Amino acid sequence: MAHEMAHQWQGIIAEYRDRLPAHVSERIVTLGEGGTPLVEAPALSARTGAQVFVKVEGMNPTGSFKDRGMTTAISAAAGRGAQAVVCASTGNTSASAAAYAVRAGMTCAVLVPDGKIAMGKLSQAIAHGARLLQVDGNFDDCLVAARKLAEAYPVELVNSVNPDRIEGQKTGAFEIVDALGDAPDIHALPVGNAGNITAYWKGFREYAGQGAAGHAGEGLPAVATRTPQMWGFQAAGAAPIVAGHPITEPETVATAIRIGNPASWALAEAARDESGGVIEAVSDEQILAAHRVLSSEVGVFVEPASAAGVAGILARAERGLVPADARIVVTVTGHGLKDPQWALRTLDGTEVQPTRVTADVVSIADALGLD
Ligand SMILES: *Cc1c(COP(=O)(O)O)cnc(C)c1O
Repeated sequence: MAHEMAHQWQGIIAEYRDRLPAHVSERIVTLGEGGTPLVEAPALSARTGAQVFVKVEGMNPTGSFKDRGMTTAISAAAGRGAQAVVCASTGNTSASAAAYAVRAGMTCAVLVPDGKIAMGKLSQAIAHGARLLQVDGNFDDCLVAARKLAEAYPVELVNSVNPDRIEGQKTGAFEIVDALGDAPDIHALPVGNAGNITAYWKGFREYAGQGAAGHAGEGLPAVATRTPQMWGFQAAGAAPIVAGHPITEPETVATAIRIGNPASWALAEAARDESGGVIEAVSDEQILAAHRVLSSEVGVFVEPASAAGVAGILARAERGLVPADARIVVTVTGHGLKDPQWALRTLDGTEVQPTRVTADVVSIADALGLD
């Protein structure tokens, strides 16, 4: 007997079906992604003089925003009868692809760069039974190899160069507008392969009635009266768009954005320029400091890459470049449990250890400084 679930979020395809291409609805593969919290962040508002919210994408089923694009990419592949998918990944794409492939009954092959994958992400891909291949090379090498594999063999590529990924990821912008009643003034986020900044810009434009002719939601009423400035932030050691040329040896603690030659480079520049926004670099120190503010003052635990957007607005606020009272949404892209080691050391690099006590109320109270 089928049971209807009356009040459960249905996943982004069912929730936004009329604004997505019809082919992704033919055979929906979902884990209930999307519907993530938009959380006001007074600690960030106080530091910037703006009104800041964080869109907590770590609350997706596999712990990152990648699930929004994976439900659409894997559903489309399932609709075409695909048996196998492949992706290159800094970690979260593989975790997501592996989980959605399980739901679809497909084989999932994952190419990850040598030695630079956070433990949480690696364990997800393995737990979901992906064929995990560690490639002697960096992310950019993995993506080239994955593309060639998909061209020559019967496997579908589910990286963000797959247009169905962008379609799914644009729903993050829809949710922000639905929650706030209109677009914010500024939307900030980390930029790695640049699929997400591309997707958000597409979503904000479509919701403001500015989609290209023939896009999925054409003819539907506009929901927003305007679009935000898009502020993208790369890690300083992996900032090809800021530098204006590819980076052959990208380096950063923010492994999810350790990318030297973004696939959606030109589209990211278009999002920046059309929106009147910026793409800038933040240092690893700024990223880890922002990571700490998020966990210790906002109450949201993210992986380092996810803090790049927050690092960016804090850096711009220090330079007087955040307009007073602007409404800012920062998308924080992945969960802190993906890569928890950064919480366990202080800014000067020492390990944080719990204080040891006996199981006795007086010594516990003593350790807590209670009297
Ligand atoms: C993939 C990812 C990014 C980068 O997104 P792009 O679309 O590649 O720019 C940032 N943060 C996290 C946690 C990610 O998983």
